[in-house]
Amino acid sequence: MRHVALVALVAFLVAAACSSNVVVADRAIGDDASAQASAVGSETPTPFDAVPTEAPDPTPLATQPPDPTQPPDPTQPPAPTSTPQPEGPCGVGPLPLPAPDRPIYDASLTIDPLNRTLVGEMTVDFGPDLPIEELILRLWPNGPRPADGGAELSITWAELPSGPVEPELLTPTLARIALAQVLEPGDRITLSMGFELVVPIELRSRLSGRDDYMRLGTVLPILPWEPGVGWATDPATSLFAEAVLSPVADWSVAIKVPDDYDVLASGVDDGTGRWRVEAARDFAISIGRFRTVEAVAMAPEPVVVTVGVHETIDDDAQAYLDKVVDSLEQFSQRFGQYPWPSLTFAVTPNLRGGIEFPTHIMQGQNTIGRTTSHEVGHMFFYSLVGNNQGSDPWLDEGITSYAEFTYEGTVPNSYAIAPEGVGQATRPMTFWEGRGTAYYSSVYSQTGFALQNLGPQADVDCALARFVSQNAHGIARPEDFVAAFEPTFPDVVERLAALGVVIGG
Ligand SMILES: [Zn+2]
Repeated sequence: MRHVALVALVAFLVAAACSSNVVVADRAIGDDASAQASAVGSETPTPFDAVPTEAPDPTPLATQPPDPTQPPDPTQPPAPTSTPQPEGPCGVGPLPLPAPDRPIYDASLTIDPLNRTLVGEMTVDFGPDLPIEELILRLWPNGPRPADGGAELSITWAELPSGPVEPELLTPTLARIALAQVLEPGDRITLSMGFELVVPIELRSRLSGRDDYMRLGTVLPILPWEPGVGWATDPATSLFAEAVLSPVADWSVAIKVPDDYDVLASGVDDGTGRWRVEAARDFAISIGRFRTVEAVAMAPEPVVVTVGVHETIDDDAQAYLDKVVDSLEQFSQRFGQYPWPSLTFAVTPNLRGGIEFPTHIMQGQNTIGRTTSHEVGHMFFYSLVGNNQGSDPWLDEGITSYAEFTYEGTVPNSYAIAPEGVGQATRPMTFWEGRGTAYYSSVYSQTGFALQNLGPQADVDCALARFVSQNAHGIARPEDFVAAFEPTFPDVVERLAALGVVIGG
């Protein structure tokens, strides 16, 4: 039997146990390494703040939860479908279903860790909701940070139903394919292509390779379509950060690796090396030899959580698993359903902090502390509720920091905001270019602290639950955040502006 008090007790115990482990390196949260170094690590979180005192009642479960100590029957992987919960937290209602006309990616990848290459073929079936005359692809491995480390993604051929096409490279991360005629809303088109990726040697990024492991995040050419708006062509960032926008899509990816490499990726392996996930806005892969543990989280529907720690890393896989399950369950009670049936989590070498992808998390050694709850928070803010990470990084990083701070018991205002970032929390990534040392505290902490200071945690949580229920599977803009908060905080714009988060300024 589960009860909210028990969940809160577990949250307290885990948070209390983890609070003593907070070290400077662990403050690195998957973004700019130099900014991470500037984040002061001397404060000790107060464990009592870790427990949400007014946690909303969890949704009554329609079925008996599986025994979390028993791994699921591997012959019966969960169906990778979204199941809306009957009722969200705070009475906000169930999650909306993802758009039925979302893109469909089907890919086959051959990964060669000894040569640090990935060779792939892919089709993407896409139907816009606005008339278009071109297809745009983002080639994120060619962004400044991975490219400087040696990454290179090349499209080797491309074909539309009308015949072969030659993508035009507008920038290193932007490729354009002209259409022979306008594609109208309701029409669909299938693009086929081949591509090759060279992965950097041991780069502290989403792309890194060595003989015995590879991190492969955002490696597939992806359509940056914002429904109702159009193509997102925001510039790439040179910081340890993202400028990504992509709609949720269905993925079916066959992943071929040499014998004796394990694979952890977005979605669920069907037993043949083909991974499938529905309504996910990106796809990521970690390979290597992992010590793997597994459990079922109730979020509130069953979620198979798999944690793999690379064989060269001494961290305790079970400790990560316990924290991922606990934070996932707590966040789902506070913010809404985690609608996917799986979450995979890989700890690999030479990474500080962590990097979030839909249903797959990458973290480095010794990141059991705040990094883990932060990346799990991103499953709700970035993965479920998307945003333009180039124009509005505060929407995913700032709200996720609030989730992290409240889970970890981080005291509001417990460290300083960089002077050049005070009042600048909502600035785009182009503003932070050249201000990398201010980025973390200004965007992450300033927004997280502002939400903590906005009102009682239960009220802020309910406003965020409304934000999730109104924007799940979509791409939220700052005005969507305001619309979700105003019923609870009518003066949210003025209050947050006074706390450094200036919306629409
Ligand atoms: Zn983050």
